[in-house]
Amino acid sequence: MQLNTPIKSITTLHGSRERILNIESEGYVFAYITDRFDGEANAFEEYDGVIILPTSPVLLKEVLHRFRSANSWTARLMPLFLHQQMELEYMHRQLVDGIVHQLDELYGAVSQIKIIKDHISGSRLRTFPTYEKDTIYKLLVYLLSREQKTLKAYIDRNSSTGYTYPILESLMNGKTPYRLMEFAVGEGLFTTQFQDSVYTCNSCEDGFLMYREACPKCHNTYLSSQDLIHHFACAHIGPERNFQRENNDLVCPKCDKALKHIGIDYDKPAVMHHCNTCHHEFQSFQIVATCCSCHKTTAVEHLLKREILTYHLTDKAHTQVEAGSDFNHQPVQENAIPGAVSEAAFYLNMQYELMKSGKQKVLMGMIRWEPFDRILEKIGRQEYHLLQVNISDQVRSSLQSIDFLCVLDNCILFSCLHTSTELAYRVVERTVFLLSHLMKDNLGQDITFEGACLQLQGQQDVKTIVLEKLKEASW
Ligand SMILES: [Zn+2]
Ligand SMILES: [Zn+2]
Ligand SMILES: [Zn+2]
Repeated sequence: MQLNTPIKSITTLHGSRERILNIESEGYVFAYITDRFDGEANAFEEYDGVIILPTSPVLLKEVLHRFRSANSWTARLMPLFLHQQMELEYMHRQLVDGIVHQLDELYGAVSQIKIIKDHISGSRLRTFPTYEKDTIYKLLVYLLSREQKTLKAYIDRNSSTGYTYPILESLMNGKTPYRLMEFAVGEGLFTTQFQDSVYTCNSCEDGFLMYREACPKCHNTYLSSQDLIHHFACAHIGPERNFQRENNDLVCPKCDKALKHIGIDYDKPAVMHHCNTCHHEFQSFQIVATCCSCHKTTAVEHLLKREILTYHLTDKAHTQVEAGSDFNHQPVQENAIPGAVSEAAFYLNMQYELMKSGKQKVLMGMIRWEPFDRILEKIGRQEYHLLQVNISDQVRSSLQSIDFLCVLDNCILFSCLHTSTELAYRVVERTVFLLSHLMKDNLGQDITFEGACLQLQGQQDVKTIVLEKLKEASW
């Protein structure tokens, strides 16, 4: 190694041959690795930034995604730089924080790190039990830490629609981001701007389609085409093949006159198509598209048209991340709890029951648990989902078959229809008791449950009453 090298020391990862070169500048410590690095992104907790030497586009993309999709906030928000002479490729602009041309000139990278650290310190780094909320929150923190105010789509042949948002692709492990972003826009976190539109398969929503002409009658694609000939003298119109004689001369099949000069004797006003399968003659093709993913063939007018949007961060996104506050709505969950209805459907059903009951009271129960954020932090989102499923199974077993329930982040709402007030209170009480014992044993961790019973009557708005109750610190 040369004497004036900026490399201070070399770290070898435990149980691996991977080497990390440690470089220091202005008190900031950088890890220097190649894109062949196959260790955990979490190995860099102690570093201020990581400089990556790209060797292949595939490996580089893979290592960048490993950082941006990492479990820990530190790894996911890690300032990343590429050691190369060229400018940043557009595909990497959302994922990489800059270029390092020379390893002994790191002031640009250092000032970028300062900016990022400064922005992160103003954010509440929290977790949400729902995949949609959690992913959007991670996205917001990342964008705000980089002062990236817009999220643009890039053309990418590896993306199923042909367009990708690289940072979303990392955070979502390649799932399509459109429904998630609809949720975020509905929450007022982004405004949108039209960027482009694409057609996708109406069955699997893949954007890789093979287009060609087909017979409008039998939809087969084995076709041949011929010019139509219009004979001026007798006004006959027919396919060119009907005018052709063996010596290649053109003779009108109606009046037997020879056609010599185009423009004087005749012209070719249109093209006629012939289906070689069903022998149908027609002038307008049907255009069909076959999906390269599920192989379904669709007439193009039935394809799905999707608008590709550029998203702009709103001020509300800033305040929400700074406060670490919850979202206004529940997203339509991808991994919904079996047997549970959505929050919106729950309120609607309750409201309907209330209307039906006239002057009678309608009862519902609520059970919530704490400290849900600490439990979530510890067991992770997937395990937490199983916990929610377990709790909802337990609650359902105490209810009658006509009752319905919905599961919020750390609370279950359920109807107690056709039952006495006394009985409803007892159901809530007993379920809280059972859950406290069962879940504490299963989880090996402190979890406390509390329950409440609501008596609804007349014109009351169910949602408002539930939300009011949820605001109370203890029941
Ligand atoms: Zn046909
Ligand atoms: Zn003729
Ligand atoms: Zn398809």
